[in-house]
Amino acid sequence: MVSLLHDVVNNSDGACTLDELDPPSVGGRVLYAVVAAPRPPAAAAAGALPRPSFTWIGNMHGDETANKELLLRLAAGLCSGELADNDARWKALQASTTIRIIPTMNPDGFERRTRWNANKVDLNRNFWSSEFPYAKPTPEQARKRDRYGAIMYPAADMWSKVGNFSLQPEAVAVSRYLAAAPPDLSANLHGGALVANYPLDACDSVGVQTSCPSAEEPVPRQLAAAYAAHNPDMTEQSAAPFAAGTVQGAAWYPVLGSLQDWVYHRLGRLMLTLELHEVKDPPAAALDGLWGANSVAFLRLMELAGMGLRGRVLDQTTRAPLAATLTVTSPASSRPTVADARRGGYFYKPLAPGVSYDITVQPYAASGSGTIKYLPIQLVGLRLGMSADRVTAEGSAVGGTSLRLERTLLATRAPANKKKKMLRASA
Ligand SMILES: [Zn+2]
Repeated sequence: MVSLLHDVVNNSDGACTLDELDPPSVGGRVLYAVVAAPRPPAAAAAGALPRPSFTWIGNMHGDETANKELLLRLAAGLCSGELADNDARWKALQASTTIRIIPTMNPDGFERRTRWNANKVDLNRNFWSSEFPYAKPTPEQARKRDRYGAIMYPAADMWSKVGNFSLQPEAVAVSRYLAAAPPDLSANLHGGALVANYPLDACDSVGVQTSCPSAEEPVPRQLAAAYAAHNPDMTEQSAAPFAAGTVQGAAWYPVLGSLQDWVYHRLGRLMLTLELHEVKDPPAAALDGLWGANSVAFLRLMELAGMGLRGRVLDQTTRAPLAATLTVTSPASSRPTVADARRGGYFYKPLAPGVSYDITVQPYAASGSGTIKYLPIQLVGLRLGMSADRVTAEGSAVGGTSLRLERTLLATRAPANKKKKMLRASA
C-alpha cells in the first residue's frame, strides 16, 4: 500500500501530498494521510478563512478491509483528477475543500486481519482524554466485555493515571493529526453493518444510557441522513434502532472511548462512524459494487463540510487574531464553540438548515495581553438558506454557499470605565 500511495501522490501533478503521522504503529508501520487540497490560490489574501476541510479514517479495525480499499479508490480518483474531470460536483468540491484520507489507522491489524492493534487493543475504545466528562467506572464495570469479547475499558486503571501514555500509538498518531488542524467534518469507516452512526456513543460511565442528547442536534442526525440517503442499501436498514440507515451510537450499543466521541468532546467537531459493508472482508469482486453504492454519498458528505457558521475573530484596530467563546443563546445550547487565536482566530459552529440562531461571541486576548477586554458581539437571526430535507437531496447546494455563512468579526476593545463596570457586575 505504501508504494501505491506514493504513486498516487507522485502522479497527481501537484494536486496531492502525503503526510506521515507520528508515531508509527506498535509494529513500526507508518500511518499515512493523502492530502488533496485546492491549488495554492494566487489570490488568497493574507488572513483568508481556512478552506472547509474533511478527513476520512479507514480500517480502524484491521479485519474490516473494504473501507480501506474504498478510501484508496477515493484518493486515486481525487489525485489523478479522474473524478473532477467527469463530474462538475467533484470538480467544485476539490476547488473548495481540503480532503485528508487516512486509508488505514491500524496497519498491524490489517496485516493480521484482526480487529485489534498488535497489543490486542480495540482502537475504537482507546480515545480517552482527561476532559472526558464521564464518571469513573467501578472495577466490576471495567471488567465488562464487549460483544467481541474484548475488554470494553482497555485500561481499567487508566482513570487513576490519565495521560497519553496509556493510549496506543495509533490513537496518539491520529489524535495528534486531527488536533493539529481539526477538520470541519470527518468520518471513521467500518464494516460489519450498514448504517451511518452519529454521535454520541455514550453519555454515562458504564454505557447504559441509550439516548444521549448532543448539543449539536439535529445536525449530527441530518449529516447521517444525508449519507444514508445516497446509499440505497443503507437507506433500507430500518429495523429498530436503525431509522432509514441511521442510528445514534448509544442507541445501538454504547461505547466508551470511541473516536467520534473524542472528536466531539476534545475538538468540538462532528465525526460520523460509517458502517459500509456487512461482510467485513469481502472479496475484491465486491469492491466495484461498494464503490458504486458509496461514491455519491462520499461526495455529498464532503460537500457538507463546514455546514454552518465559519469565520474569524480579529481585533478591530490591530487585526490580530483573537480567541473567543461563541455561545448559542437561541435555541439554547450548553456547548460553547471556541475561536482559536493560533489558527488565525478561526471558528466553526455547525448549524442546522432552516433554524434561526442567536449567538453571543465573547472575544478575549491571547495570553500575554490579558489586560485587554473586548465587548461581546451579538449575531442575531442567523439562518442557513436551505431546509433540512434539502440537505439530503441529490445535487442540492452545489458550491455549498447557502450552507455556509462566513463572517469576519471585528472585536472592539472595551473602554476602561466600562471595563470596571463589567467587572463589578460579574463580581
Ligand atoms: Zn469496526
